[in-house]
Amino acid sequence: MTAYEYVKVLSVDIGPRPAGSDNNRRTAEFLRNELEIIGVDEVGTQEFALRPDFWNGTALLAITFTLAILFMLTFYPLFALILSVALPVLTVLEVDSGKEITMRFLPSKTGRNIIGKEKPSGESTKRIILCAHHDSKTQAIPIGVRSYIILLVLVSMLYLFVISLMTVLSVTVLPQAMEITNLVGRGMLLVVPFFFIYAILNYIARFVAQSPGADDDASAVSVILEVAKKLKEEPLSETEVWFLFTDGEEIAMKGAIEFVKTHHEILAESTVINIEGCGVEAPLAYSTKEMSLRTAETSERVIALFQRAARVAGEEAFPISRATTTDGYQFAKHGYDVSTIWRFSDEVREVAHTSKDNMNRIDSAALDNTVRFIDACLREFDGN
Ligand SMILES: [Zn+2]
Repeated sequence: MTAYEYVKVLSVDIGPRPAGSDNNRRTAEFLRNELEIIGVDEVGTQEFALRPDFWNGTALLAITFTLAILFMLTFYPLFALILSVALPVLTVLEVDSGKEITMRFLPSKTGRNIIGKEKPSGESTKRIILCAHHDSKTQAIPIGVRSYIILLVLVSMLYLFVISLMTVLSVTVLPQAMEITNLVGRGMLLVVPFFFIYAILNYIARFVAQSPGADDDASAVSVILEVAKKLKEEPLSETEVWFLFTDGEEIAMKGAIEFVKTHHEILAESTVINIEGCGVEAPLAYSTKEMSLRTAETSERVIALFQRAARVAGEEAFPISRATTTDGYQFAKHGYDVSTIWRFSDEVREVAHTSKDNMNRIDSAALDNTVRFIDACLREFDGN
């Protein structure tokens, strides 16, 4: 099979593959099987629990806390203050670090990371991990609009904290605070709708045409399978290569979190190349930082590697430094040397997670060039 044919199997024959779905399980089985057919030295599955309703869960959490805070303000302002601090803290812990606190009450399904390991011909002295997520996601609204809604939700959280604090102060040490509280209080009713909008949009997503996830991220998975074949034909001399297909990247990077958790020590000296959509005609780009709540810079070493590999592959690779909350972030957070590769344009951002991310967009030359680039990365890394 070619990379193009792999994308077709994943996005057309299997179709949308949201975490926890039957299609998702079928995808994991297909990938494991394919790595075995290619003859990769070691192939395994890492299973873990994930919550398909995660994003609806975060919305429910926000709504419950908001109503409780608004209710308690009148009678128990101190409790309102505690809850207004707890809400963002819980959200950060669950979304950023995968700690399941309120999420544990949501129904759970099995998530599957597929892991392949290919040994070098000689003694293995270094390791590189190629990572791509095999789950897909459908979203009712474009990513651009969604980031504004998230911003409004964050502002709402801050607002709930301020008004709770003012109320506590006004009944304890600072009676004047009551005037400010009253002033702020008028805007109070504005808070709730933001959380509701967020929740409703999350809910609607399941009724809109599902995204086949052709570029995001069947393209990268397919590129990695092709790279695995090339390594079989012509092995590296001292670099061990891992192929990691994560599940639940679209559910707050769940698969990557589980992988890092269980492979922490082995991975301390690994270099990670995380690959996102790379199957459309767009410039090849790499992240110079992995960023969410914390920021981690990509090392000069990896950037230099990309530049050398791009020359070998006859492409130009561009740095991008905008927020990239993908699997790469979870590795970066734990100190690994990581960068995320894309074929990136504004169109890519608009189409991601919609039904338009389908086979029609996929360009087989773009896929083949990405295979050449990643292969060059591995060989440059091996020889230096
Ligand atoms: Zn993705």
